[in-house]
Amino acid sequence: MPLATPYYLIDESALEANLAKIDQLRAASGAKCLLALKCFATWSTFEQISPHMDGTTSSSLYELKLGREKFAGETHAYSVAWSDGEIDEAIANADKIIFNSVGQLERFAGKAANLPIGLRVNPGISHSHFDLADPARPFSRLGEWNLERIEAVMDRVSGFMLHCNCENDSLEAFSAMLDQFETRLGSLLERLEWVSLGGGIHFTKPGYPIDGLAARLKAFAERFGVQVYLEPGDTVVTDTTTLEVSVLDVVENGKAVAIVDSAVEAHMLDLLIYRQSAAVAPGAGPHRYMIAGKSCLAGDVFGEFDFPQALNIGSRISLLNAGGYTMVKKNWFNGVNMPSIAIRRKNGEVELVRAFDYADYVSSLS
Ligand SMILES: *Cc1c(COP(=O)(O)O)cnc(C)c1O
Repeated sequence: MPLATPYYLIDESALEANLAKIDQLRAASGAKCLLALKCFATWSTFEQISPHMDGTTSSSLYELKLGREKFAGETHAYSVAWSDGEIDEAIANADKIIFNSVGQLERFAGKAANLPIGLRVNPGISHSHFDLADPARPFSRLGEWNLERIEAVMDRVSGFMLHCNCENDSLEAFSAMLDQFETRLGSLLERLEWVSLGGGIHFTKPGYPIDGLAARLKAFAERFGVQVYLEPGDTVVTDTTTLEVSVLDVVENGKAVAIVDSAVEAHMLDLLIYRQSAAVAPGAGPHRYMIAGKSCLAGDVFGEFDFPQALNIGSRISLLNAGGYTMVKKNWFNGVNMPSIAIRRKNGEVELVRAFDYADYVSSLS
């Protein structure tokens, strides 16, 4: 029996292709790659992913614990701000801890004396198409800016984390950014053992010059005598996952609008946040529809697409690239049925790995 929609469908073969590129980059560069759980934390896939990565990085205690529990390799602990109530558990579950500010480092580094300690440094430059996701935006709280303050704690840190990219698919742009890090921070970088260059480098994109990136990372590592880490999230799962939905109704109001059994705000929230359209394949044909969700939000629209055939009630649609920043953000807005999670195995079989029901909705509130 086919699975009931809606469901996220993760394709093992597509994931394997991305993982092969990660392996290529690791082998050619010597850099270690940690999965950023903030982007993707669907742990049923970790058995497949973890042999091709070196561990996980986190943005909270819960992500940290999930990485520790479910993913082999190193577990990096980072949070924008650790609380008194969570710092001990964070230290107990981490292989490295990265503080976001000198203030946090001074408060907690004594407790973490058994661990390598890192500091997030904000070099004031970035590559991001979105102000909302730009770590170097004015008044940013993401990382320490003040070189004098950083200098004063250098004897306590063995590494820096510099996360300054968002969806950067240009090696030239990334390399130019590294040039600036080298110029501005070189005398500090020389004193470190490791540097994490964060996530946001879209090196699994078709045509990306992986060998060029590897050479650039290797040159950086050799120049400063550091182990380089990357923290890819989106690029690990890009184009591996679809959101499978069905048409429930078609209404006409100047345009043909197909209402599906999902909701943008609940299931692909980033499309709303970043004002982007979803995508469908092949996205061509004589029949044009606006695809909209079933929540009460007037702007619950996935986008407008062309289809080879007319859509009817029960027609199936695959919304593309639904792996990153979707399942980690899904919510119960409008009480809309939560998409299940399924994996298409390499042999073509589709396996349901998680379904949600009314009891999950109820237990998410009280
Ligand atoms: C969000 C984030 C990542 C992952 O970014 P992607 O764009 O998904 O690759 C890595 N490191 C840090 C510190 C982050 O905040």
